[in-house]
Amino acid sequence: DPQDRRYGYAFTNCTNCGPRFSIINDIPYDRPNTEMRHFTMCPECSREYHEPADRRFHAQPNACPVCGPSLMLEDGAPIGRGEEIRAAAEALQEGRILALKGLGGYQLLCDARNDDSVRRLRERKHREEKPLALMFPDLEMIRRFCTVDAEEEQLLQSFATPIVLLAKREGTGLAPSVAPGNPNLGAMLPYTPLHHLLMAELDFPVVCTSGNLYDEPIATTNQEARTKLGPIADVFLSHDRPIARHMDDSVVRRTTRGTQYFRRARGYAPLPLYHKREMPNVLAVGAHYKNTIAIAFGKQTILSQHIGDLSTPEAHRAFARVVEDLPRLYDFTPEVVACDLHPDFLSTQYAESLGLPLVKVQHHHAHVAAVMAEHEPEGPVLGIAWDGTGLGTDDTIWGGEFLLCEKGGFERVAWLDTFPLPGGDAAIQEPRRSTLGLLHRAKLKADFPHGFAGDELALVRQALEKGVNAPLTSSVGRLFDGVAALLGLRQITTFEGQSAMTLEFTAAGRLGEPYPFEVDTTIDWQPMLGAILKDRDHGVAVSDIAARFHGTLVEVMAAVARRVGVRQVVLSGGCFQNRLLYEGGAARLEGAGFTVLLPKQLPPNDGAIAAGQAWVAGWGR
Ligand SMILES: [Zn+2]
Ligand SMILES: [Zn+2]
Repeated sequence: DPQDRRYGYAFTNCTNCGPRFSIINDIPYDRPNTEMRHFTMCPECSREYHEPADRRFHAQPNACPVCGPSLMLEDGAPIGRGEEIRAAAEALQEGRILALKGLGGYQLLCDARNDDSVRRLRERKHREEKPLALMFPDLEMIRRFCTVDAEEEQLLQSFATPIVLLAKREGTGLAPSVAPGNPNLGAMLPYTPLHHLLMAELDFPVVCTSGNLYDEPIATTNQEARTKLGPIADVFLSHDRPIARHMDDSVVRRTTRGTQYFRRARGYAPLPLYHKREMPNVLAVGAHYKNTIAIAFGKQTILSQHIGDLSTPEAHRAFARVVEDLPRLYDFTPEVVACDLHPDFLSTQYAESLGLPLVKVQHHHAHVAAVMAEHEPEGPVLGIAWDGTGLGTDDTIWGGEFLLCEKGGFERVAWLDTFPLPGGDAAIQEPRRSTLGLLHRAKLKADFPHGFAGDELALVRQALEKGVNAPLTSSVGRLFDGVAALLGLRQITTFEGQSAMTLEFTAAGRLGEPYPFEVDTTIDWQPMLGAILKDRDHGVAVSDIAARFHGTLVEVMAAVARRVGVRQVVLSGGCFQNRLLYEGGAARLEGAGFTVLLPKQLPPNDGAIAAGQAWVAGWGR
């Protein structure tokens, strides 16, 4: 309605919509406690705000072009007021990179059909291959680029408007560099008036990714954006409404087991989990990767928004902000602090600095406990916690764990037989190191295209022979790495989980006949590795080997569960982002008569660790 006083205005909202968590500074949620305090309502807006019959009655962010936040376009060229959005759209059409001040931080946008633009964005952002999410003008266009079922459409259009992982269609003209080697696409719809107005000017999808360098937290202030994103973006579309706290886009997907959350942030955070039992006041600080924090009090646990990997000073600052901010919003004072066992984690060091009673929770125990906090099962559960890395109680690196858990305690009843990781943490980026560790442990010799120079290889072999700088691990994530590199799929990764994803995609959605393995207290994978090597050397298709590898792991779950004999089984840990393990494992276990408990509201990955830590600490020491 061009006659409306808010026509084309980017900060329109009513009582039922609009920002909340991204603008609130303190409780109660009233305008003086939000970032809207900087904007005094004009007489028109004030009348709406105070009129109970008005749809904007007590809408805290109520505003209009006269009194509210305004847009600014910055690319050097002066531009008429009201022209900012059209000019930003033109910049995108011309293949330029736009930094857009979104709801919970800046985003970087470019034409998703333009491979040059996408590559330039990747290069400048130092994000080599990790898939980039897309924003589409409407659902109709998503259907052209992806296959979408009714439930996925619902998710896309839900109040939270998350990024939904969808199966990518071929031949749509999408730039190959958007999600290289990945059959899926992260898609979302516009979710603020500003996004709607911008996308309405476009007839193509745009890459829409967090405004940050590599994996740093998303930039929220105009100043930070100019410093950090200046070298990345060609054009800035920003505004003068401050962002109270950073909030990334949430990431979800549909599975046969319901919605699976990969990242809980905008629209889903803070997440309250409601319990039957009373909790002491616990502050849980999470782990290192995909960090979130949690506070527990009364009969609930509140999980913060996604903070990210605590590897950079920026991430440390974001962590410090959230750990101060979340308790304040809930008027919460901790009595107990819970953290990981790892002494070097920033989160652990922070927890230790508080001088409060401290509960250190083993990483995989926390994974299982998070699911227990959701379901509150009666009696013991067998927790299958599979991921990349977590410090164990015996100073080895765990990650292929079967933990018998009850209340706040656990017993490690089975695990993947250990193998050495030459170079330690270097193995996380270099799957080929896991392969050499596996082969060494199994006393097998095999050629594979590892790409090590002669002297490098000699050093790795020396580390293995002498057992120096070659910590032992029982990690399923590293087993995935080792097999992927052995099959020639991936020697070096550019983002966490990349080689495991490649192996999953190679299996093309199939669970093959299991390879042989032995189950005792440890799971002996050596018969499987030998068989994989034989298949590979006999020219069996890599996709068939990958399918059988997944089939083996699913069978391992059932075999250990039968051996332990506890009826309830929990699946948790980053490996269960793998659809074959998540859906296939749950189905196999149920088929064998077990009750399977899955992360329902929480992510399977380390984003749930804080909730598990809080749950364990809640049982007392
Ligand atoms: Zn106004
Ligand atoms: Zn983990």
